[in-house]
Amino acid sequence: MLNLQRAGVHAYRKAPRTVAAVHAMATNAGGPKKVLIVGGVAGGASCAARLRRLDEKAEITIFERGPYVSFANCGLPYYVGEIIKEQSALLVANAAKFNKWFNVDVKESTEVVSIDRQGKKVVARDVKTGAETAYPYDYLVLSPGGNAVRPPLPGIDLPGIFSVKTIPDANAIKNWIAEKDAKTAVVIGGGFIGLEMIENLVHRGIKTSLVEMLPQVMPPYDPEVVEPLHERMRAKGVELNLGDGVAGFEAGPGGKGLVVKTASGKSHAADLVVLAIGVKPETSLAKAAGLELGGRGGIKTDAHMRTSDPSIFAVGDAVEVKDYVTGEMTLIPLAGPANRQGRIVADVITGNEPSTFRGSQGTSVLGMFGMTLAATGASEKTLKRIKRDYKKVYLHINNHAGYYPGAKQIDMKLLFDPNDGKVLGMQASGEEGVEKRVDVVAFAIQKGATVFDLEEAELCYAPQFGSAKDPVNMIGMVASNVMRGMHPLTNWDELDLKQISADPNAVLVDVREPAELEKVGKVAGCVNMPLSSLRQALSGLKDKDKKYYVYCQVGLRGYVATRQFLQNGFDAINVSGGYKSFQQMLGSSKL
Ligand code: FAD
Repeated sequence: MLNLQRAGVHAYRKAPRTVAAVHAMATNAGGPKKVLIVGGVAGGASCAARLRRLDEKAEITIFERGPYVSFANCGLPYYVGEIIKEQSALLVANAAKFNKWFNVDVKESTEVVSIDRQGKKVVARDVKTGAETAYPYDYLVLSPGGNAVRPPLPGIDLPGIFSVKTIPDANAIKNWIAEKDAKTAVVIGGGFIGLEMIENLVHRGIKTSLVEMLPQVMPPYDPEVVEPLHERMRAKGVELNLGDGVAGFEAGPGGKGLVVKTASGKSHAADLVVLAIGVKPETSLAKAAGLELGGRGGIKTDAHMRTSDPSIFAVGDAVEVKDYVTGEMTLIPLAGPANRQGRIVADVITGNEPSTFRGSQGTSVLGMFGMTLAATGASEKTLKRIKRDYKKVYLHINNHAGYYPGAKQIDMKLLFDPNDGKVLGMQASGEEGVEKRVDVVAFAIQKGATVFDLEEAELCYAPQFGSAKDPVNMIGMVASNVMRGMHPLTNWDELDLKQISADPNAVLVDVREPAELEKVGKVAGCVNMPLSSLRQALSGLKDKDKKYYVYCQVGLRGYVATRQFLQNGFDAINVSGGYKSFQQMLGSSKL
């Protein structure tokens, strides 16, 4: 008989509770549960909808400080860019729909200003009239999100400096562009929102520059992974001011426009400034109510999203979550976790436990100027910081069969545990099919899969979509061969090229064809031994005491050549990702 536990099916799945049973639990105190939800967007709205589906009798109220409940904040940059034309398209569900579909009382423009935990009630203020009303609760759900960071820099309150958090923020930017006929912009902060804003401002014909304190955009990603995006941004005319933080703002000459001052003393003039330097968890209510906060400044919860008060739950950008890979507590302000947590709270309130949050992997994607960057799990810099053992492989591969027209290259980086091959993280960039591969690996990580599982994964294939050995299989194969000791592999950043060239017992071998070296470039000091004639060359090669560092364009021919070296009794190692990775690590501009 099939063992359901072994098959990965948990006991509570075996015998799902009926809606009646759930309802009975929900109403065990006799009357309907009063559930108040603070914040009516990602986490709050999904909690309310799920709650209603599980408990028809609960009295559910959402308080939303802003003028709109359940709006698509992720769509705001595209609304500014006029790719999304109508504001109404951003309104996923309005108060009336919530009321009709879910019998949820939505109080828009109403801010919850205090929580009385003893009396189990909140006080909410009508933002327009200032009138305050107390509301009792059995359960309180906090989904207040995060606040856009606005550091107290000189000139921060000058008109023309915008955050992008709400529909009114987006409208203010659009109006400013129209009124001032804005032609130039500076975006501060090269994270997701900053980059999406850059793309959309450029789309509107506004010459845009970036000011970013770090030497790279997309801080959670490893630097070489974002290098192709740096190039694409420059090619689109975006001026990248990296490694230079903002120091303050001044009004432009004659009061026209603004000047952004940076730490290095530079000035950047613009008609409009967008501040996108991150979000901080909104914890003021929780703090004032004495709820426990975590070390990263977010609200602390257990795996059922319960705060230190068992009647109060918290979800979304306001809470700390456990990093699924590192086990550290962290802040992951993304819509997916917020939505899932909202559902979990509804399950828990209605007694549908065990419904637990598994932690977050920071699975994320950015689309910009025709490129896609996506990542899941730990980055190399995180693994280094926590001093966790890892190995990495790079793969530059077509998104689908090369013989089918239109194949585009995907650059992939996989991180895995050198002891058991467990997948720890993946980052990728390219033009097509990037997020599909990262999504597969994201789920693999959540299921504790190894590189051997990636090798064996059965994935969709037809020539216009993939390859019979999908890029996910291929990177799994490369890593599995490393694990098996069949494929000695190193990386450019692990090699000391000066030392190799000075060492009489080391040879850097380029196995590409001579014309490629001419056209694409080569690493100084390499010896060219093209793969097409390597067998003959090896038959005459005597130096078996030397170490051969082999590279090609993307790593595949290097692997084939390395196998030939090894099987002919030479000591050889392939350089992962070949010359392509070399370019990305150093940045083509520095080659
Ligand atoms: P929110 O959705 O921010 O909702 C919190 C709400 O609570 C706010 O509307 C606020 O007004 C209200 N509130 C706060 N305090 C009170 C109070 N005291 N009383 C009443 N109401 C209160 N994530 C992705 O995964 N992918 C993306 O592409 C993406 N793009 C984004 C683009 C932009 C411009 C922004 C701003 C965010 C983006 N995000 C994206 C992040 C994502 O939107 C958030 O992670 C998610 O919305 C968090 O959900 P939440 O419920 O915690 O908070």
